[in-house]
Amino acid sequence: MAEKVTFKNGKLHVPADPIIPYIEGDGVGQDIWQNAQLVFDRAVEKAYKGSRKIEWLEVLAGKKAFSQSGVWLPDASLEVIKSHLLAIKGPLETPVGGGIRSLNVALRQELDLFACVRPVRYFQGVPSPLKHPEKTDITIFRENTEDIYAGIEWEAGSSQVQKVIEFLQTQMQVQKIRFPESSSIGIKPISIEGSKRLIRSAIDYALAKGLRKVTLVHKGNIQKFTEGGFRKWGYELAQEEYAAELEKGRLVVDDIIADNFLQQILLNPERFDVVALTNLNGDYASDALAAQVGGIGISPGANINYQTGHAIFEATHGTAPDITGQDKANPCSLLLSGCMLFEYIGWKEAADLITAAIEKSFAAGCFTADLAGEAPSYSTSEFAQVLIENL
Ligand code: ATP
Repeated sequence: MAEKVTFKNGKLHVPADPIIPYIEGDGVGQDIWQNAQLVFDRAVEKAYKGSRKIEWLEVLAGKKAFSQSGVWLPDASLEVIKSHLLAIKGPLETPVGGGIRSLNVALRQELDLFACVRPVRYFQGVPSPLKHPEKTDITIFRENTEDIYAGIEWEAGSSQVQKVIEFLQTQMQVQKIRFPESSSIGIKPISIEGSKRLIRSAIDYALAKGLRKVTLVHKGNIQKFTEGGFRKWGYELAQEEYAAELEKGRLVVDDIIADNFLQQILLNPERFDVVALTNLNGDYASDALAAQVGGIGISPGANINYQTGHAIFEATHGTAPDITGQDKANPCSLLLSGCMLFEYIGWKEAADLITAAIEKSFAAGCFTADLAGEAPSYSTSEFAQVLIENL
């Protein structure tokens, strides 16, 4: 009988037939999920000759949930994900108006998924703006719960902002607000705990993968206590918890100012293995890095709490309403997110089979319309069939 994945003493316990919840997603979610599931199942079958199998459990969220139950993110769905630890999801539409949070953000907050993990690599054959896109092979660890994303801000002209500005001027002796009468004010919390848990996860990931370098990316030259704190606490953590690895040269921790990082990823991307960033810097860097390998439509992502084991693996693109229901969408973002999930549960063989099949298919010029350029393209289902043949 299929069983849940569990987490005890800091370790995942994965049965041979784990139940993994999935959210099909809105828009092209339907087009890509069905095909991706076929590829996942065939890869597992091939890798483990029938001794392992995933029991997929559909969980409702987004438009599908709304049309069936009148709720965008039913409590029951959240409970299923909480109790099964993991889920994989297609893109979700963010309901407009009515004060409803983005579903993606709601899921991250409910499960405290503090690390947004984005591996960025090049696939031969994919159009890229760089001369040597293959030199980029970087995994991003973006902090997911702090920074300006905490949403603490007050609008210019409001009575609240006046209170905040008055407090700053009278109680904190702040004299540097250039236009106090017409400023909005935002607050950026960055904590020791939030920074260290993210940086610890990045270091553990690097060590598990046999990668040496973890780079702290920050703007500490300007924001000394928030961004500078992130840098300082990162070095502290490395000394406190990874002294042996540092000494033996298995680990190198360094840092770089965020603006220089954006130059260096174009000029010398091979300098970086794993990078750890605060939330906003991580947002910019994720898109810039994905774009430079041509991967904006195929990049995978995961949001993970390494302390509880909770993780959601997801397609990073949107719902693509312009091509929904046309069997045209590229399933690779979801497929590669599935590979991250397989790696996370220790089923590396299945992940490697799928990644190799994608490499082989791309190298043979087999692309969905978004990547095919002038060449004839494959539909989502045709592409999935090619992948299955290439497994
Ligand atoms: P949302 O509001 O859900 O973010 P969007 O259309 O604003 O949707 P995306 O869904 O990311 O944003 O789409 C941007 C463009 O990229 C669209 O032209 C879309 O067709 C294309 N696109 C997105 N995902 C894919 C995919 N998996 N395969 C092919 N094209 C895609």
